[in-house]
Amino acid sequence: MKVADGERYSRQILFAGIGERGQEALGRSHAAIVGCGALGSFHAAALTRAGVGRLTILDRDYVEPSNLQRQWLFEESDAEASLPKAVAAERRLAGINSAVRVRGIVTDLTASNVAELLGEADVILDGTDNFETRYLINDFAVSRAKPWIYGAAVGSYGVTMPVVPGRTACLRCVYPDAPSGIQPTCETAGVLNPIVAAVAALQVADALKILTGRPELVAGRITTIDVWEGGIRQIEMPPPDPECPCCGRREFVHLAESARQPVHMCGRNAVQIHERVQPIDLMELKARLEPLGKVRASEFALRFATGPYEITVFPDGRAIVKGVDDTGLARSLYARYVG
Ligand SMILES: [Zn+2]
Repeated sequence: MKVADGERYSRQILFAGIGERGQEALGRSHAAIVGCGALGSFHAAALTRAGVGRLTILDRDYVEPSNLQRQWLFEESDAEASLPKAVAAERRLAGINSAVRVRGIVTDLTASNVAELLGEADVILDGTDNFETRYLINDFAVSRAKPWIYGAAVGSYGVTMPVVPGRTACLRCVYPDAPSGIQPTCETAGVLNPIVAAVAALQVADALKILTGRPELVAGRITTIDVWEGGIRQIEMPPPDPECPCCGRREFVHLAESARQPVHMCGRNAVQIHERVQPIDLMELKARLEPLGKVRASEFALRFATGPYEITVFPDGRAIVKGVDDTGLARSLYARYVG
């Protein structure tokens, strides 16, 4: 069925902030989504329905049954077939709006492919679950003066913040370093689907302002939401820090290709990850992982088994993931269980 554009987008065009001109601008624009999990699948569905011209979706993971509670685009059949999320998303979005050029790419975003994958995007939406990838996005976005929108959710809590280079602070102005210590993840602390929807919706609203030609409406604020016990809070972002290594001194260390490559150890069906050089309290991690699988820990190493995978974590933050020959999947397992 071909739906006439005028009819399809009529309610959005009626909205005074967008109108015909905004809708046309949106139809010529290109959005990229990094990570198509709970946040990313909401971004993808919303932008496809809204009529973005092109959508690039990057994800390194496969659909699992535990995703279905909050990852809006996926169905039971996708989990049964263990489809890559990027592939399942592309298929489903084609049925929602066949006019949008959607490209789902099964990949791990790294310094060596970031320019090729994100170079043409007009805005980048953060659907990732880890600071390593966010710092990479931040360095790339600031180096190319591209806006991107940070988002994160765990438990009932979430946070979002737009980064508009040249106007707002960047991620490293606000978070100079990744949060230290063991952070809760959706695998260890759970996550509710309303917080995911709330954070992702605010990210999409900022993306729509940018893509319909009203970037000046994006407010430089950090929004935090707790849908269970708290409420919604907004604070002004700090001004850009002239000493910020990224947007101030323009030293894009995360774009250096040697910086953060996990080492693939061929022949052993194992991947070593050494990108996070940060001490880890193994006993604290053990307590966190105990409900989720078999875990043993000494002062030298922690070993955690889940499904076909075994993750060994060392006190310096290094890890070896066994049972995988795919560096993207190994990094994903690390982000989910270690943080
Ligand atoms: Zn900065």
